Amino acid sequence: MSLGTLEDLFLQEIKDIYDAEKQILKALPKMAKAVESEQLRAAIEEHHTVTEKQVERLEEIFQILGKPARGKKCAAMEGLLKEGSDILKEDAEPAVLDAAVIAAAQKVEHYEIASYGTLATFAEILGYEDAKELLGQTLEEEKETDETLTQIASQINYEAMEEGEEEEIAGSRRRGR
Ligand code: FE
Ligand code: FE
Ligand code: FE
Repeated sequence: MSLGTLEDLFLQEIKDIYDAEKQILKALPKMAKAVESEQLRAAIEEHHTVTEKQVERLEEIFQILGKPARGKKCAAMEGLLKEGSDILKEDAEPAVLDAAVIAAAQKVEHYEIASYGTLATFAEILGYEDAKELLGQTLEEEKETDETLTQIASQINYEAMEEGEEEEIAGSRRRGR
């Protein structure tokens, strides 16, 4: 049995999030390029730098466990990022696209928050103090990112709504109303 112990599950979940973080590293630059808001772009770029450190922390954890740093494909992250990249292909008003990118990014952050929360708990009860510390640091960063995105959204969502209204009015005029 490959999952005979909680320790096995811990390693499997570390491999999952390691793969997820690597997928995120590839996806963030595409998102940053696509958005209109400078503030949003800066937040995405900043999170790319933070994510590089998070990958290093996971590599430290593999060392602590005495295992090679090897990911196990995270199908959930693949799906979340696929939804995000599909949005970029849509013919969207700039602020509406930004609102959509934020929505997609927050889904990613929430997956990470759930994962790191579980992993920190596993590390604690398995007695991996240093790993617990590292996982807790990353958990805090993901939460901060989620909050930053919420804050940026509070402005962009309104811009998106107004942009939509302008479109509506222009559309009505074209229809002769
Ligand atoms: Fe992350
Ligand atoms: Fe996963
Ligand atoms: Fe993140």
